[in-house]
Amino acid sequence: MSPSYDGFDRTVSERLPVWLDELTDLCRIPSEASNRAALGEAAAWIAERLRRLGARVETFERVDAAPLVIGEIGTGRTLLAVQHYDVQPAEPLELWTSPPYEPQVRGGRFYARGANDNKGELMARVWAVEAYLAAIGELPCRLRFLVEGEEEGGGENLGRYLDDSPWIREADGALIEGGDVGMDGRPRITSGVRGMASLELTVRTIAYDAHSSVANIVPNAAVRMAQALATLWDRDGLPAVAGLDEGVVAPTPAQLAVLADVPDADTDDLLAVYGIERFLGGRHGQAALRALTFNPTLNLQGLWSGYTGPGGKTITPAEAHARLDIRLVPKQQPAAMERALRAHLDAHGVGDVAVSVFDYQYPAWWTPPDHPLVQAAVRVSEAVLGKPAVQHLSGPGTAPMHVVCAPHDVPSTSLGGTDDEGRAHAPDESIRLDYLAAAVRMTGRFLDEFAAIPDGRELRRRSRCPRSSRLTRPA
Ligand SMILES: [Zn+2]
Repeated sequence: MSPSYDGFDRTVSERLPVWLDELTDLCRIPSEASNRAALGEAAAWIAERLRRLGARVETFERVDAAPLVIGEIGTGRTLLAVQHYDVQPAEPLELWTSPPYEPQVRGGRFYARGANDNKGELMARVWAVEAYLAAIGELPCRLRFLVEGEEEGGGENLGRYLDDSPWIREADGALIEGGDVGMDGRPRITSGVRGMASLELTVRTIAYDAHSSVANIVPNAAVRMAQALATLWDRDGLPAVAGLDEGVVAPTPAQLAVLADVPDADTDDLLAVYGIERFLGGRHGQAALRALTFNPTLNLQGLWSGYTGPGGKTITPAEAHARLDIRLVPKQQPAAMERALRAHLDAHGVGDVAVSVFDYQYPAWWTPPDHPLVQAAVRVSEAVLGKPAVQHLSGPGTAPMHVVCAPHDVPSTSLGGTDDEGRAHAPDESIRLDYLAAAVRMTGRFLDEFAAIPDGRELRRRSRCPRSSRLTRPA
């Protein structure tokens, strides 16, 4: 007999207005990577909130690192909620309908930087515990919140914190920072994350920025960078770097079967979201989904050189920079990407362009989609949203799940309520209020499902990254 969640759901509805005030307070803190004071303020806010929840809280600090907040509540089998309180820079500010750090509710959505990534999703999990304690009683398992402050950039310090306090990683299951709902209202359960290699290209052509009158005799660094960049993609905009797919294994029939259950619309709806007519290479439906799941990306995230401020400045730039990120699939190593790029530039006559590691480097982390932990997420999300879940082998994004989970082979799954219109990382970031409440309801139910998985040791042992050979199609 499944337990009744009537009282729990009522508590969620009653407390939601107060919780939104709380989320407003948290989203007022501009916890961008460059704002050390705000990072400290957000960490302290969360530590205090977790204490108020009844959690045992410890804040870890390192020189030159954002604090790591660990809050633990309940006893028994341990579920690790991997969250973060830092946010992407809010720029360009002029594209926000309301200021990023003055949260506003409009049309059933809560707008603020961090509203969905990741403050809203974090608070949904905090509120789930609060409502569970109030309406049901003691938690059926131990929930350990891991709330870091460098997820959006940097990231190396999380591994250091965890190496210093290895007990934090001892868990039986983990929740990826959030989860989402498709445009058709079906929950999306994602049991993997991509890895990441972030690289910076630099080229210097002359001793200092020259007077542009000499532009036809001295080499321009911006032009040199443009020439180098032009070799990295083909005319369709697809990566043209040999070695970028080093380590990539062909999908198994079982994995393809999981993908086949994903409606084409789930990917094709993104055309409207991004206001485009076609995806790169003309891929759509399953082909686009396969690219998102099984292929590494090669993204140019930004480039700079010369002068672009007000008024002209007639210089021939001496230096140019570009930043690339490569999202990795299982079995790929970040270091191999740096080598592949180096070899590519050398082979294309642009060996003078330097490659350096910038920002975070994570391998991917996948859990088989038929794993009991993942299936528990499927059941609770279906129970709350009343529609069949769509499973994904891997989300297109990156989270530090490998850093957290690999040492003890901890399985992980997504669970939550963001949607494709949430504009994470972009201006007008938001979260739907009804999905926020749904995320709370799912999480409360998930605690029971997690505690009820029959064999704890089996729970851990069955997770491998990647276990493609053992994948079976989910029921
Ligand atoms: Zn995030």
